[in-house]
Amino acid sequence: MNPDVRSLAYFIVHTVATCERCDQPTGLVGVGIAAGHECYIDDEWVRMAAGVWLFHVEWLLPAVADTLQDLAPQFRLGSRGDGPAECWLNHCQQCNAPQDDYWLYCEPGGAFLPDGGWTDDRFDIIQVDAPFSASASGFAEATGALASTGSAG
Ligand SMILES: [Zn+2]
Repeated sequence: MNPDVRSLAYFIVHTVATCERCDQPTGLVGVGIAAGHECYIDDEWVRMAAGVWLFHVEWLLPAVADTLQDLAPQFRLGSRGDGPAECWLNHCQQCNAPQDDYWLYCEPGGAFLPDGGWTDDRFDIIQVDAPFSASASGFAEATGALASTGSAG
């Protein structure tokens, strides 16, 4: 799998939401990159002007995957919904059900599509100053949530 997005640093967001299957609270993590990250488009790396949260992530740089799994072992490869056959998904800490990225990131009121914005204290966002690359097909706007980390090139 060739990476199609890269950055010099990345962000991990942690929150707690209700499992779509068992209705119990479960921890969720997501990964984002600031404005200035690069996407591989038409055979070249292009600098992007907006920060994004990534979803439908099929491949993660192993060091990034290790960091995420240290924080949230329930974030691992799985299959769910309309996403790729296998991608990195949150799994419920209570019943182990994979949580569909579409509902977390794209549906109003979803855990990672907050009505009240990203300043809400239910989000814990940390910056990791380490190289990031991934292959992802989902990009969710992260307005105001991710401070710029400068150029990735
Ligand atoms: Zn559950």
